[in-house]
Order: sequence, then C-alpha cells, then structure tokens
Amino acid sequence: MPDLLPYVAEQPLVDHHCHGVLHRDADEATLESMLNEGAEWPGGSVFDSQAGFAFRRLCPPVLGLPPHAELGDYVARRAELGATEVSKRFLSLTGTAVMCVDTGFTPEPITSPAELGDLAGTTAYEIVRLERVAEDVAAAGVGAAGFADAVRSALATRTASAVGVKSIAAYRTGLDLRAERPSDSEVAAAAGHWLASARPGPLRLADETLQRFLIWCGVDLPLPVQFHVGYGDSDVDLHRCNPLLLTPLLRAIQPTGVPVMLLHNYPYHREAGYLAQVFPHVYVDAGLATHNLGARAPALLAEALELAPFGKFLYSSDAFGLPELYYLGAALFRSALSSFLRTGLNEDLYAERTAVRLTRMLCADNAKRAYQLGSQM
Ligand SMILES: [Zn+2]
Repeated sequence: MPDLLPYVAEQPLVDHHCHGVLHRDADEATLESMLNEGAEWPGGSVFDSQAGFAFRRLCPPVLGLPPHAELGDYVARRAELGATEVSKRFLSLTGTAVMCVDTGFTPEPITSPAELGDLAGTTAYEIVRLERVAEDVAAAGVGAAGFADAVRSALATRTASAVGVKSIAAYRTGLDLRAERPSDSEVAAAAGHWLASARPGPLRLADETLQRFLIWCGVDLPLPVQFHVGYGDSDVDLHRCNPLLLTPLLRAIQPTGVPVMLLHNYPYHREAGYLAQVFPHVYVDAGLATHNLGARAPALLAEALELAPFGKFLYSSDAFGLPELYYLGAALFRSALSSFLRTGLNEDLYAERTAVRLTRMLCADNAKRAYQLGSQM
C-alpha cells in the first residue's frame, strides 16, 4: 500500500457500525464463509476476489507471516496463537478509539460490546436492533393489543445506555416504506396478523407497518436511527435496498432533527450521498464495501464523496466475526482517504491544514457529533 499521509495514519477512528468477533478459532471453512457475502462453490474460493487479495496481502504480516502466505499456513499460525491473541492483534492495529456495536445479529456466540472494547482497547457503545426487541417482546407472549406499549417500554429499557438504534427493514420488507407514523390501532392489527401467521421456530418480523412503527419509536427516543442500505447481507433483494426509496420517510423525520444514518449503501453510495446533501439530518458511510472492494476502495470513497457533504460522511467497518475484517476496514479506509486527500492537495483544491481538518471530520468528529459522543472522547 502507498504511504499514508501522517495525519491519516495517526488519526483515531470512530467505527460507528460494527458487530462482535467470534470467541472461537476460525478454520479455513470459517474464513471462506465470513470473508464476504458470497459462499464457496465447487472448485472456487471466495478468496479469489478483491476482498480476498486484500486479506492475503495485509493480514499475514500481522501474525508474523510474509504477505500473500498460503491460506493453510495462515490458518495454522492463527490456531497456534489462539482466537484471543489474534483478535487483540488485529483490533489494536485498527487505531479505533470508539466502536458502536450492533448487538442484534448473533447467529453464533460473539463478543459483547464490553468484551469487544476490552480486546480492542477502545470504548464500545451499543446500537440496539429494533426488530430484535420487537421479536423478543412477541416471544415473551405479549398479545396484539398490548404490543405497541410493550415495545415502547422494552425499547426504553434496552436503550438506556445505547447510543443509537438500527432498522433492518431493508432485508425484511425493503426500503419502500410509507412515511406516516402508524397509530396504535394499526400497530395492533398488524401485530395480530404477524403473530397469527408466524411459523414455528424463532419469530421473524417482516411487516411494513411494524417496521415503520419501530423506526418512529427510535425517532421518539430520540436516538440516531441507523438503516441497513444496499450491500451487506445475502438475504436482501438488493433492488429493494436503494436508499432513494426512503425519501418520503426521510422527509417526514426531518422536522424532528433526529439523525438518520444510512449504512453501507453500496452500490447506491452515490444515491446515498445525494440524500446526505439534501437532508440536513442524513449521514452516510461506505461500511463493509470498503474492505470488500479491496484495491478499489479509493474509487469507492471518491464516488461516495462526490455529493455527500464532508461533514456527513462517517467511517465504519461493519465487521462481523473475524478480527481481520476490522483491520482490513480500517487499513483500506485510511489508504482510500489518504489517496483522496493527496489528489486534492496535488490539484491545489485545498491547503494542507484543510486536509488535516477533513481527516478529523471523516474519521471521528462527524460521528462524535451525530451520536453526541463528544464528552466521552
Ligand atoms: Zn451491518
């Protein structure tokens, strides 16, 4: 990787959207399944991709192996060091000061925000996933009539020390949500329908009225509301995850002043940048696309910052499970930012002191302002 601008290399990051890491060691099959949203296919490897090449170039040296080491050797070295040591090495090298951790996705045991913060040597805050709270309320046996009140009260408790909430409407119903706040009687009717039609097994909320109700609950708290947008889960119908579909709802939320954080966005990062420009309360990031695009991360960041105001773009890794992904996210973001700023300096678009200021904004200060983390950093 080219040399980083010194102030980009040294700037602590606020990672405003990430998840926990695995407690267990990761074997080759785990690395294959967690590197990106794809799966192995006969005769193929997900490592034959931009994300895979970035991984194989940047990660082995952190474990004392040469760049481009074979995966078998890498996995053996990983097992020798153990999951805790591997996590500590990668997480501490990210240079992250604050993490905002989404605790709503736990397909297997992963670290809590406090455990993740300890491994990384950072302050970790929780982001509460709205659908998970509603599913827990329903699983506890609350009926349709009491659903709205029970969700509001559970959310008040669950978010007491959280810094934001997150909606995954994108991969449950899509982002084509109506704007209006549903009435309690509409919520009761929708909850009745959902509970009556639920299949055996864990409850899965996917109802437009209820998703919208949850989002308005988040606005009322009031806490920044994160939205999954675009790439980031193999579950999604990607064409229903275009952030422009949120326009009526964003317009309705605007008078409240509650920040709306559009996560990941790829390949709709330009659309998201437009929304960040026209709506004062909308913020954007590039999330896991940064490490998934590998060597193309500088192009991604440059495109995301075409329309997005520089005061509205945030850093996130959106890493889950593998500590390598937090490291790759941070390393590739720093490299992309350095290249973006160098281009501007070379073209005399701004003075060096402005590049220093932009670095602070994009890496940390925009997130500190949106989530009101000011006093903690
Ligand atoms: Zn995510």
